[in-house]
Amino acid sequence: MSDRDIFATDYSETPYWWRDAPLRELPRAEPPAACDVVVIGGGYAGLNAAMTLADHGRSVCVLEAQRFGEGASSRNGGMVSGGANVGKSTDLARKIGEQAYRELLLDARESLDHFERVIADEGIDCDHQPVGRFTGAWTPKHYAALKAKAERLSRDSGGKAYLVPLEQQHEYIGSERYFGGMVVERTAGIQPARYLGGLLDAALRRGVTALDRTPALGLSGGPGNFEVTTPSGAIRARDVLVSVNGYANTATRWERNRTIPVASDAIATEEIGEGRVRELFPQWHMMGETKRILNYFRPSPDRKRVIFGGRATFAADADVGRAARILHGRLVTIFPQLEGVRLSHAWSGNVAFTFRRIPHMGVHDGVHFCFGCNGSGVAMMSYLGHRTAEKLLGVEERPCGFERMAPLSLPFYAGRPWFLPAVGSWWGLLDRLERQAVGGA
Ligand SMILES: Cc1cc2nc3c(=O)[nH]c(=O)nc-3n(C[C@H](O)[C@H](O)[C@H](O)COP(=O)(O)OP(=O)(O)OC[C@H]3O[C@@H](n4cnc5c(N)ncnc54)[C@H](O)[C@@H]3O)c2cc1C
Repeated sequence: MSDRDIFATDYSETPYWWRDAPLRELPRAEPPAACDVVVIGGGYAGLNAAMTLADHGRSVCVLEAQRFGEGASSRNGGMVSGGANVGKSTDLARKIGEQAYRELLLDARESLDHFERVIADEGIDCDHQPVGRFTGAWTPKHYAALKAKAERLSRDSGGKAYLVPLEQQHEYIGSERYFGGMVVERTAGIQPARYLGGLLDAALRRGVTALDRTPALGLSGGPGNFEVTTPSGAIRARDVLVSVNGYANTATRWERNRTIPVASDAIATEEIGEGRVRELFPQWHMMGETKRILNYFRPSPDRKRVIFGGRATFAADADVGRAARILHGRLVTIFPQLEGVRLSHAWSGNVAFTFRRIPHMGVHDGVHFCFGCNGSGVAMMSYLGHRTAEKLLGVEERPCGFERMAPLSLPFYAGRPWFLPAVGSWWGLLDRLERQAVGGA
């Protein structure tokens, strides 16, 4: 199959999710002269924050530079987890201490509770399928390490995790690629753009002023008398909450200097039918891997296609077609049964890594912030938006684990991660070496 043949005739470089949940353009409106809180960024975090603020009687204006959800929140894989991804750094518990780590896992668990509560309370139909997730072990050593992780997830984050030995792997995945794996039962799949649309409706129902295609250009003043400038006028506000995650820029310089934006890519196959999809996903699980440059994959909500994602390149300006070809290659390596299957969609978006490799929330110079999904933010950024709003309102029942540690930066770092291609190459090499050491490709 030549490179060009991997694209179906109706191939599109837009998120697959926009097919049945297109992004909306809201009617043009002038910004209000004043409101209680301006929220900058209209993804899961900003909209959850706006809902909580409005529920407490605050007048809220959310500014979104693009269309609502056009950042990561309508582009992701729709794999919803609580604790499975807290702290990608394997020795986080040792670094920050057992108690602090447990608090993070508790909040991770609550992030899933929060997500489930929101979609139930707001009646958001987002194809929520609580099917669980299988994570394939890249090496036998990784499999052994999953034992401790499964125990911890079950104990501290309510993840209900268990190991799948190599001999039983075929009951979980139609691939010979792994050395066994782990299932976390308390995880789910959703249609992410429909979740975003439901949040936007919920915010609008509460009287939130939602302005799309309206970037915040600058911020001055302080608590009680902020001024946020936009292309169509300035807004005075008592408080400001910044939730821009992987899209921080000069208007949100402090967050930008503490964020490592990384392009994350995804593809959808053409329809291959439920029977073939089931051969790959016998239990309809969401799926991931333990390697450093990991891929994740899942059935589409209608179970007729495969959605596959990962970091195809670590370049800031990689084109989507090139990323699609790389991901297609990985897809057929994991599932050789898909050789010859074409792609209908490919797209890309930004995630935000942090130097501590955990999400953060807090207040800096009177501005409330949350950012740093580190690749997993459907539940987490929804929750942190809500928790940041609670902190702003002064109604937090307990401090959130993710506000304990201040986000780090590097000297002279200004949001342009020049080191990423080198890190990507190094991680790729380590993945390959580990695999070769156990006789795998
Ligand atoms: C391809 C891909 C796959 C992913 N897969 C998964 C997954 O399967 N599971 C999972 O849990 N997570 C996944 N994620 C991560 C998840 O999508 C994000 O963590 C989450 O959407 C972040 O939400 P957010 O509201 O914090 O940020 P975003 O949704 O990125 O929203 C930030 C918004 O801020 C806006 N903005 C920036 N600057 C300004 C400004 N000055 N003024 C106004 N607006 C501004 C941007 O336009 C943007 O829309 C994935 C991400 C990507 C890109």
